[in-house]
Amino acid sequence: MIYKTISKPEFKKFVNLLIKENPTFGPVEVAKNTKGKPIYQFEEVHSYDEIEIDYTMSYSSIKNFFLPFKETLSKFKYEGNDWKQEIKYRVHPRVLIGPRASDISGLVKLDKIFVTGHFPSAYYIARRKNTFIIGMDNKALPDAFCLSPEDHDIRTGFNMFCSDIGDKYYISINSSKAYNYLKKVKTANPTKADDKKFIERKKLIQNSFKTKVDISGLENFLDIEFKSPIWTKWGEKCLSCGTCAAVCPTCYCYGVEETIEVNLLESRKEQRLHSCNLVDFAKVAGGHNFRPTSVDRLKYRYYHQYRGFAENDDETLCVGCNRCGRACLADINPKDVINDLRMENL
Ligand code: SF4
Ligand code: SF4
Repeated sequence: MIYKTISKPEFKKFVNLLIKENPTFGPVEVAKNTKGKPIYQFEEVHSYDEIEIDYTMSYSSIKNFFLPFKETLSKFKYEGNDWKQEIKYRVHPRVLIGPRASDISGLVKLDKIFVTGHFPSAYYIARRKNTFIIGMDNKALPDAFCLSPEDHDIRTGFNMFCSDIGDKYYISINSSKAYNYLKKVKTANPTKADDKKFIERKKLIQNSFKTKVDISGLENFLDIEFKSPIWTKWGEKCLSCGTCAAVCPTCYCYGVEETIEVNLLESRKEQRLHSCNLVDFAKVAGGHNFRPTSVDRLKYRYYHQYRGFAENDDETLCVGCNRCGRACLADINPKDVINDLRMENL
């Protein structure tokens, strides 16, 4: 990792240069919630001034830049006595400005599935390689929880990461592309005073997490608590709407559908993100549903987030952003569900 500092006016110049040369996406206010608080989402921007650089957190995660809700994997056409297949997975280089550390940590987890996992996805890899990521640090929202320091103190998954140290940013540079881009503007080597402010900023962020969720030994609790009434208590509240998985930075389950056009000469294969809370998620041919109730389905989501992934990769899939809890109309959130399971064990 190489470290530099950049003044805020110079950073603005840098971002405007990137915007001029590439499609660029950053957090913008798209609406207000019922309490009058802004709702942010990543949208295409055409100037630095459109970006809400000090935003809190986007409503849904940046996952959909890499795993769109719907994408065509391939198209087929019947021509000259044979089927021709067309596959397009290349994407134009683009820039994402402002993802938070937990979102980038979520991407690093998705990389373990779609880049280095058993079945890599050329579509995901193309998007990941062609997206230049400038992460920005932030203090935790009151309901966000920290399951692992790696979720807010990240060292991979981005091209450059900016820590706000007052009148300048302390930049962690993680790619030659970022290093070379930065040559177009004025940067400096960090002074001793900058280093001190950087470390203080990290401590401030670490201490900003007010919501605590204890996940020590959680895998064992989950093994023991498979039949716990806690699942009924929370599962019966669940509306099976699937919003939690849609906004989550790490929920990635999907379905693949093949459609044939009415002329019987063209068809396409589409991938759509799914949610394990939706009624038909575990329905198979013949009509049998392996998880017929909302209780089964909610439990399954928690087992995937906190048990299944942890068994293979020694870490939870969840990064503690609490987007699922904030978006849930039934007021279901990981903190309350996990704490209930723990109480059950006392
Ligand atoms: S847990 Fe909440 S957000 Fe998720 S499916 Fe159930 S009701 Fe919807
Ligand atoms: S807190 Fe909820 S939305 Fe955030 S990573 Fe964990 S499961 Fe996903």
